[in-house]
Amino acid sequence: MSEPQDTPRERMARLILALRSQGVTDPRVLEAIEKTPRELFTPDLFKERAFEDSALPIACGQTISQPFIVGLMTQALTIEPRARVLEIGTGSGYQTAVLSRLSRLVYTVERYRTLMKEAEERFRTLGLINVITRFGDGGEGWAEQAPFDRIMVTAAAPEEPKALLAQLKPNGVLVAPIGKGPVQSLRRYAGDGQGGFKVELLGDVRFVPLLDGVAREL
Ligand code: SAH
Repeated sequence: MSEPQDTPRERMARLILALRSQGVTDPRVLEAIEKTPRELFTPDLFKERAFEDSALPIACGQTISQPFIVGLMTQALTIEPRARVLEIGTGSGYQTAVLSRLSRLVYTVERYRTLMKEAEERFRTLGLINVITRFGDGGEGWAEQAPFDRIMVTAAAPEEPKALLAQLKPNGVLVAPIGKGPVQSLRRYAGDGQGGFKVELLGDVRFVPLLDGVAREL
C-alpha cells in the first residue's frame, strides 16, 4: 500500500509493480498505464486514492475501473498500433485514455451525457486527439464506424453481446464482462476469420451493468 508521504512517482511505481505481480506484464500496456494520470479521472473526494489498485465511485452512480482490471483487459485485447478500437462505457474516460495510447483511434460510447462531457474535457486536457466520443446506447455498437479491430465493453453484458460481435472484423478481438449478477465472468472472444469465435475465460470481475437506452438525467 502507498504511504501518504510518497511522491506521485513513487505511488505510480508501486502500482505498476502490483499490476506486474498480478500478471499484467505487457510492457506497452504498463507504459500506457504509467503515462495516464489516474488522479485526473478520479473525483476530488477520492484523489488521495487514485494510485490504489481499487475501483472508485464517480458521478451518476458509476465507477472508475480498478487499475489491475484495466491492465488485464487492455492486455487481453492484444492491440496493434494501427487498430481502431470501440469501447462501450466511457465512464470517467480512464480506460479510454489508456486505450488511446496503444491504438490509432478509439471510439467510445457512454449513456450518461454528464459523464461523456466530463470525459471529453479530460481528453482535451491530456491532448488525446485520437478519441472519438458518442452519447448513446453502446449495446448497439457504432454501426457507421464498424467493423472494428478490437472492442472492449466496460459494463457487464447480461449475455453474449451479439450486436457487438457482429461489428468486429473477422480476426478481431472483443473483451467483455458477461453475466447478470454482481459477479461476472470476463470473456475474450477471438474471431477465427470465418465468422466463428474462440472464447476464453479470464476470471471473475465486478462491473456495473450494461443498461438499455440512454440515461435520463435531471
Ligand atoms: N471504463 C470506465 C468504467 C466505467 S463504468 C472507466 O475507466 O472509468 C461503466 C460505464 O458504462 C458507466 O459509465 C455506464 O454509464 C456505462 N454504460 C452502461 N450501459 C451502457 C450502454 N448501454 N451504453 C453506453 N454506456 C453504458
